[in-house]
Amino acid sequence: MTDQPEPRSGLLDIMAYRGGVADAPGFTAPIKLSSNENCFGAPQSAIDALIEETSRLERYPDGGALRLREALAAKHDLPVDQIVCGCGSDELLQLLGRSYLNAGDEVLFSAHGFLTYKLIALQNEAVPVMVPEDDLCANVSRMLEAVTERTRIVFVANPNNPTGYMMPKDDLYRLHAGLPEDVLLVVDTAYAEYVDDAAYSCGMELVRNHKNVLTTRTFSKVYGLAGLRIGWAYCPEQVAAVLNRVRSPFNANRPAQAAAIAALQDDAFVARSAAHVQKWRPWLSEEISKTGIRVYSSAGNFILMGLGNAEKADAAEQFLMKKGLILRGMRGFGLPGFLRLTIGLDEENQAFAKGLAEFMAS
Ligand SMILES: *Cc1c(COP(=O)(O)O)cnc(C)c1O
Repeated sequence: MTDQPEPRSGLLDIMAYRGGVADAPGFTAPIKLSSNENCFGAPQSAIDALIEETSRLERYPDGGALRLREALAAKHDLPVDQIVCGCGSDELLQLLGRSYLNAGDEVLFSAHGFLTYKLIALQNEAVPVMVPEDDLCANVSRMLEAVTERTRIVFVANPNNPTGYMMPKDDLYRLHAGLPEDVLLVVDTAYAEYVDDAAYSCGMELVRNHKNVLTTRTFSKVYGLAGLRIGWAYCPEQVAAVLNRVRSPFNANRPAQAAAIAALQDDAFVARSAAHVQKWRPWLSEEISKTGIRVYSSAGNFILMGLGNAEKADAAEQFLMKKGLILRGMRGFGLPGFLRLTIGLDEENQAFAKGLAEFMAS
């Protein structure tokens, strides 16, 4: 007996997730390059749809998000019934953990995979198995060697956050082919639209042909709607049936559904956002590299850099913060000597490059 209600075992060992810093002391409008958001903001088309929807806020949303799923199905040529929407793709990842993990099961991912995967394992009394990488790149052979009969879920973010690493299609397919049929492979493609590499696969073709693989996507990144919380999964029928039983009935809210439908039609916005990132990614990588800082190749709208040690990374973060530039320190990601930069607007990128060069010269 204890003198207070006790949470499920292991929950208090979890470090609560902390998002990117949003404020720089002394700056009313700091340059926020810490959360991989779209520097162009939300598409006007989505804002208009959202405003229009405010005349119906007393009404519950469509719990099945049918119009949004139909729009997604049409856009990506997928069966409507195999799409499930969520309060961000994060909710869907959480629900998968809750649905498929039992205490003692193992959840496999590469050592610097997305932070959420570890939390999902711990929330469900499962064991996170973090497979060593090669210089921050996932190693599929090693991941397959780490599979045991307790493995239930394998998570791959492709491209991965925070490393930026893109797992080539051959590796992704080899990973899937090497997994037992009762292990669920979750391919998290939050940054798919930013990839410009012919070796990429977002995994949808795998989902079409197998029962143990699914992909998740989000409106938070290239669609610029992170604040609305809306994401979706394309999954086998059996997995969709499970998610539809465990999700809360109105998990995708009314304004989010309306805005997402509008954003989905806004090809020009997505194309402009992707092109902007593809233009600035090499420029920024080169500028960082020139200062002597190690840059990791990224397929997303962000760049990971290695400062060599934690003291230097912290000093750089503080130095840039004093100039109103907010980056993401990587201590919480198990990469204390690293910083992550989200690609911003032209002048923001230039301000960052200038600030970083000044730091290295100081
Ligand atoms: C940002 C991000 C997500 C998306 O989260 P949402 O809940 O949809 O906002 C998912 N996976 C990765 C790897 C991310 O970086």
